[in-house]
Amino acid sequence: MGNKILFVASECTPFVKTGGLADVIGSLPQALTKTNKYKVSVILPFYKDMIDNWSDQMEKVTSFTVEVGWREHKATVFQLIYRDISYLFIGNDYYFSRNGIYGYEDDGERFVFFCQAVVETITELELEMDILHAHDWQAGLAIAFAKITLPSPNLKTVFTIHNIKYQGIMQKDAYQDLFNTPPDHIAGMEWNGLLNCMKAGIFHADKITTVSPTYAEELKTPYFSEGLHPMIMDRHDDFVGILNGIDLKEYSPLLDPHLPSNYLNAGPRKQKNKEILQQKLGLRENPEMPLYVMITRLVEQKGLHLIQAIIDEFLHEDVQFVLLGTGDDEFHDFFYHAEQRHKGKMVSYLGFDEAIARQLYAASDFFVMPSLFEPCGLAQLIALQYRSVPIVRETGGLKDTVTPFNEFTQKGNGFSFSNYNAHELLHLLKYSLTIYHNQQKWHSLMRNVNDSHFSWEESAIQYAELYRSLTESESTSKRSETN
Ligand code: ADP
Repeated sequence: MGNKILFVASECTPFVKTGGLADVIGSLPQALTKTNKYKVSVILPFYKDMIDNWSDQMEKVTSFTVEVGWREHKATVFQLIYRDISYLFIGNDYYFSRNGIYGYEDDGERFVFFCQAVVETITELELEMDILHAHDWQAGLAIAFAKITLPSPNLKTVFTIHNIKYQGIMQKDAYQDLFNTPPDHIAGMEWNGLLNCMKAGIFHADKITTVSPTYAEELKTPYFSEGLHPMIMDRHDDFVGILNGIDLKEYSPLLDPHLPSNYLNAGPRKQKNKEILQQKLGLRENPEMPLYVMITRLVEQKGLHLIQAIIDEFLHEDVQFVLLGTGDDEFHDFFYHAEQRHKGKMVSYLGFDEAIARQLYAASDFFVMPSLFEPCGLAQLIALQYRSVPIVRETGGLKDTVTPFNEFTQKGNGFSFSNYNAHELLHLLKYSLTIYHNQQKWHSLMRNVNDSHFSWEESAIQYAELYRSLTESESTSKRSETN
């Protein structure tokens, strides 16, 4: 049985992170290794931001020239073994020695280079590999290039959609300018007259997964698929939703070194974190005061327009609200001014900070996540782990992981609402307060929260099963490139 997997991705904890993708790439390989069935390696770009913390632990393993259309760029490959997993990093000063990791005009070109370099690394290092598993658009072309150029008939491929909103779209003439694959392969990489790296991954992969069962269903509809639902429907038989998990050791309030007061369940030791946070952030110091937090990229997806509409009204209640986030200017401005209006009750921490994030999960009573859409969402899973009650909109993975609390049956681990409507959210926030102030109901809810664990174990079994189905199948049907 083939058991060697190579993950291709653009971010991975603890090396570089902008969101949940990094958490997944950081923890799923460990979980797969624990099944004793698979050996996983990971290949990533080597970004400038990693140099300070990681470069002296890396070893250079090879370098070669990569053609990106008519350009010639050097790729230097470094290796680092971390927690028994082999990580390969592809370095190139021109493409990756920049501040931050995405958001450049030539992002498409940068990841054409990366994917081309991934495939050449496989050849250069003669990497033995049974399955190439690529994640999101930045890695989609690695599957296309591998299928088209690598001479290994037994190589199987899996493509995971973590968020279909970001597809890696380029003008069609970029194919001639940047790609070295033959002209007749453009059809497999094109969608609606544009080059589309996510479509390339979906088209060329043997199996396609996404990160929750509900999102898998949603992606079959025009509303959620950002135009790609015909492609998803075309690959319907090879498409499955597998729920993400989190690393329960990494996200453990008992072991987390960032917390002033470690704890297991809600109680005085958890509350100590709230008191210290209130002091640190200049909030009114009162451990009984319900604390609501958001930790998020500041983008429309996260339901921030709903928060904008109701935050002033909600803050009339006896509550505190802290937001940690970074992203679009519109939201930076809004949250900056909201804090000015509500000094002592609200804090907007506009930045990316892992330690503050952990302290907020620990200090909070409620975690607010009213997303417009949410492929899986890890933040609500981390919140549950830190005994902060999630308040979510019923979409994607939020629907699969948060069950609304029913005060009569005492079942449910959070609060949820269905329509994308600010006053439904406000109503729910106010309702959550009444439960907070009812000791008996609050205890029932916290008991359910304590019992909610979304580890990788179950999901790793499902991935292992998917890999097995691929490596045991004789051949994969060839699709025609007429899409
Ligand atoms: P997405 O991947 O769409 O950003 P997820 O909920 O899947 O959303 O994952 C978000 C991850 O990023 C969580 O680990 C969350 O704690 C972290 N995160 C988001 N924003 C920040 C921030 N400003 N500072 C620190 N961590 C953050």
